[in-house]
Amino acid sequence: MKITFVGTGTMGCTTRCNTSMLVDDILFDVGMGTVKQIERLKIYTKSIKYIVISHFHEDHFLDIPNFLIGRGIRKETEEYKLTIIGPIGVRKKTIDLMTFTHSDGNQHKYDNIEEKYNIEFIELNDGESYSTDEFKIHALSLNHGPCVPVNGYLLEKSGQKISYACDTTLCDNYFKMCEISDYMFSDVTGLTTKEMHVGLEDYKKLSIKYPNCKFYAIHRSDYDTSGIDSVIFPNDGDILEI
Ligand SMILES: [Zn+2]
Ligand SMILES: [Zn+2]
Repeated sequence: MKITFVGTGTMGCTTRCNTSMLVDDILFDVGMGTVKQIERLKIYTKSIKYIVISHFHEDHFLDIPNFLIGRGIRKETEEYKLTIIGPIGVRKKTIDLMTFTHSDGNQHKYDNIEEKYNIEFIELNDGESYSTDEFKIHALSLNHGPCVPVNGYLLEKSGQKISYACDTTLCDNYFKMCEISDYMFSDVTGLTTKEMHVGLEDYKKLSIKYPNCKFYAIHRSDYDTSGIDSVIFPNDGDILEI
């Protein structure tokens, strides 16, 4: 598996882009600036067959029209189907955003979005999963304060279990992901855990409690990471082969 850290920052982060991660042909989250960052990293949208959305905050979802329109302009829609996996409501939210950003006055312009852009939507509730010949992905609902729904994902692929947990605070499903994963890619926004986000102090404790899992911080602000060796802090554009 090839993992590319497309973006590793929070919204307020001044040095790195919004969080997004590419695992082979599966892109986790498409927030503001992700499409531009993909182009900068010379990743072609053509190589992305699946988009997995965690939740509908702007730093995780807002670039989806940009992605779809670009795909249409380059006629990639004629070449392959794109699968968008997300929490319940991801189809409607995508249509709403497309209507808002590319309106011609027709409120029903995107009623047939599946045919227009050659997309399939998969909406997953807590505990549901989706499988292909190459991978299985499980949705686990997380606690991101007042924001609902929020899905974390456990991806089983090539004999590895990797978890993506952005955004969340500590909760039962989060601990379960730490326990059963080989790799954890998580929201570690600030130094301490708050109502909506996990903090570095707790993340360090979890990395010691679950030594069989490798802990990566991929949704982080500009705090000092020096002297911490139990947590890995990738930067934008870094690649991990597992
Ligand atoms: Zn976020
Ligand atoms: Zn969020």
